[in-house]
Amino acid sequence: MAAKILDGKALAARIKSELAGEVSALRARGVEPGLAVVLVGEDPASQIYVRNKTASSAQVGIRTFDHRLPSTTSQSELAALVAKLNADPAVDGILLQLPLPAGLDARQILPAVDPRKDVDGIHPDNLGHLVMGEPRFVACTPFGIMKLVEESGLALAGIDAVVVGRSNMVGKPMAALLTNANATVTLCHSKTRDLGAVVARADLVVAAVGRPEMVRGAWIKPGAVVIDVGINRRADGKLLGDVEFTAAAERASAITPVPGGVGPMTIAMLLFNTVTAAKRRGRSTQEP
Ligand code: NDP
Repeated sequence: MAAKILDGKALAARIKSELAGEVSALRARGVEPGLAVVLVGEDPASQIYVRNKTASSAQVGIRTFDHRLPSTTSQSELAALVAKLNADPAVDGILLQLPLPAGLDARQILPAVDPRKDVDGIHPDNLGHLVMGEPRFVACTPFGIMKLVEESGLALAGIDAVVVGRSNMVGKPMAALLTNANATVTLCHSKTRDLGAVVARADLVVAAVGRPEMVRGAWIKPGAVVIDVGINRRADGKLLGDVEFTAAAERASAITPVPGGVGPMTIAMLLFNTVTAAKRRGRSTQEP
């Protein structure tokens, strides 16, 4: 079976073009969506991600406020910047690029972001609302994955979904979204016994581990939809996902490529969340 390739780049482009229209309408009403982008340190991958996010924001008309801080920044200096951005009415969304350099604790700083500006959707309040089935901001990567699954045509109610990886940014919110959509969800991690047997039962596999090609093609149930979140750079510079792509594509009905699958959708949903935050601000400033 030749799997349908779920083209995240094309879907992200469609979403961005819709968002550009919404941003124009907001600007016409005097609401200019603004995203603060905070990068601490010089991690090369983070620099690329931040550059892509800033460029994509500009494409849809979102204004960005760049904050580059040295890796020597203290926890209290970063907290002071977050407090300033929380109070700034021109800032609808705050993106704190992770990982933070050694010495800074993301678990302390993330809850300090105003949940109404948490466009990454990873504030404990927003994760809590998602688990309760009343999402406010949905974490960007799982949100983008839901759109890709929609593209595959897979109806989620009652299916077996397996998520590999239980991070707070990807695996856990992914499991919550799929549960809310009535899938029967198994959330796997490094202590899972016989991962291959668990994956083999899945109608939908989401791999978010960070280990190149660890999900073997032979594990995939024929006809399953496979979403590969992993971004792993090989020594020669080639990007590999967490799924053994060629072998999996022979069994799956639909699969995301790496690159060009989940990555562009993560950025598109960050912009979506920022526009949502700006719309909420627009409404609140127009209330009497
Ligand atoms: P984390 O490192 O935070 O989490 C990895 C998860 O994988 C953990 O839950 C870990 O289990 C689990 N794991 C590790 N080894 C195994 C194993 N042998 N079998 C089963 N599970 C295992 O990663 P992230 O969620 O942040 O990211 C995962 C990948 O996705 C990375 O490659 C990252 O670069 C990529 N990514 C891509 C994005 C995109 O936009 N395309 C966005 C975000 C991430 P345990 O909890 O037990 O340690």
